[in-house]
Amino acid sequence: MHTTILDDLRRALGPEALLTDPADCARYLTDWTGQFRGTALAVVRPASTEAVAAVVKLCAASGVAITPQGGNTGVAGGGVPLGNRPHILLSLDRMKAIRRIDAAARSVTVEAGCVLQQLQEAIAPEGLIFPLMFGARGSCTIGGNLSTNAGGSNVLRYGNTRALCLGIEAVMADGSVVSDLSGLRKDNTGYDLRDLMIGAEGTLGIITAACLRLYPAPVIRATAFLALPDVASALSVLNRLQDASGGLVEAFEYMPAPMMRQICAHHGKRPPMAEPPETGILLELASTRGDDAAPDPEGTPRLQALVTEVLAGLMEEGLVADAVICASEAQRNALWQLREGAAEAIYALKGSYMFDLSLPLAAVADFVAQTDAESRALGFEVYTVAHLGDGNLHYTLAAGAGRDWAALPHTAQIDRILDRVAALGGSFSAEHGIGQAKLPYMPRYRSKARLAAMRAIKGALDPDDLFNPGKTIP
Ligand SMILES: Cc1cc2nc3c(=O)[nH]c(=O)nc-3n(C[C@H](O)[C@H](O)[C@H](O)COP(=O)(O)OP(=O)(O)OC[C@H]3O[C@@H](n4cnc5c(N)ncnc54)[C@H](O)[C@@H]3O)c2cc1C
Repeated sequence: MHTTILDDLRRALGPEALLTDPADCARYLTDWTGQFRGTALAVVRPASTEAVAAVVKLCAASGVAITPQGGNTGVAGGGVPLGNRPHILLSLDRMKAIRRIDAAARSVTVEAGCVLQQLQEAIAPEGLIFPLMFGARGSCTIGGNLSTNAGGSNVLRYGNTRALCLGIEAVMADGSVVSDLSGLRKDNTGYDLRDLMIGAEGTLGIITAACLRLYPAPVIRATAFLALPDVASALSVLNRLQDASGGLVEAFEYMPAPMMRQICAHHGKRPPMAEPPETGILLELASTRGDDAAPDPEGTPRLQALVTEVLAGLMEEGLVADAVICASEAQRNALWQLREGAAEAIYALKGSYMFDLSLPLAAVADFVAQTDAESRALGFEVYTVAHLGDGNLHYTLAAGAGRDWAALPHTAQIDRILDRVAALGGSFSAEHGIGQAKLPYMPRYRSKARLAAMRAIKGALDPDDLFNPGKTIP
């Protein structure tokens, strides 16, 4: 039967669309962290929406499951086949076209396999940005970003991927195509399939294209690294900067000393302050207004002068201990390279567990103080990097050099932390999704009613469990 489906796929798509040699398939069948491996009859690489629909129909007819994959940068194991059922891995990596840039409407229609950075470079000459920003942007794809509802460093200002999407085109389990690419800002015609597909991690259909919202490119930025006395001061600092600037804060990223040291050691870089502060914050504001870029009498662009003035006031009040304000694009890039190098530096820690937590903003400071102290007392090292303005903590417990992870009470401490997050009304998966990694937590922390509704949606849209079986829904 497997030879038949492969022959059928070859006939329908052309031989160049199928990879079956294990050496060619290997990089698609292991995730980038090396934690998740799967098997597939073939890696299938359709080049059009019609070809995706043909693949879905052929697989549905022979009961072969489909795992969609974009850039394979996900961290929850969602893009790698799971279980023993015959699978194909459907890679969108040949569907990269930018179909239409509508500069006047500030939207772009793009195929799902387009790499995020390529989209950003293509629209830059129009003076526009697609503001999704994180370290994997050179490899992750729009389809993967939508399917994980990716977040990143600029959510504070622009929202997550869901907020950036005007409509999608997707292939459903029967091979039909739903298309909603007209860029409408308003369309209340019943259930919103776009919102169902976003964050579904490839369990409800294959996203083949999307119409995305664009924003005017900033003409001036103010970027700084701050030392705060403690995490409790952070919210006041953020709110004061927002109020003074009219909401121009784009990033407010927590990079405490242990994390900064680990990033610098891993990438061979220097920290922005000789002695990394316990509560370090990467701050960025951006403005599209020409007068914010105009120099003040000292020659400093107005936005940067404003940020300097606000920070000086916050220092006098004791809410900021120290600040390094970037004086050049090179300094800004150096700071962002440190921030975007965090994920690799964390995954390089042998014997560790990374949480992707979200908490109500008011609960963050006490959570960090309590959990840091408790975890260290148990013998763990703690590495945190956080989209603090969104209450999203990438919180890592590690054994540290020379220590044995297995000898530490990691299962109990992971459970204790997750229970604490739940008690505070937080989430155990802020932006990375469930995939296979977080599956066991779903029945523990999500209600029976919610899981039943998810199963009903899955059953209605994908009755034969064709798409990404075993993922996301326990
Ligand atoms: C260095 C680094 C930094 C990162 N930082 C962040 C961060 O700050 N914020 C954040 O949110 N994430 C972050 N990530 C995680 C990851 O980059 C995102 O989840 C990204 O959105 C995944 O895109 P992808 O194309 O690689 O998807 P993949 O990994 O290929 O797939 C992810 C999921 O989407 C499904 N999928 C992929 N394409 C489609 C499609 N066309 N149709 C249907 N389903 C599909 C897959 O089946 C899988 O379940 C980071 C990763 C790395 C390596």
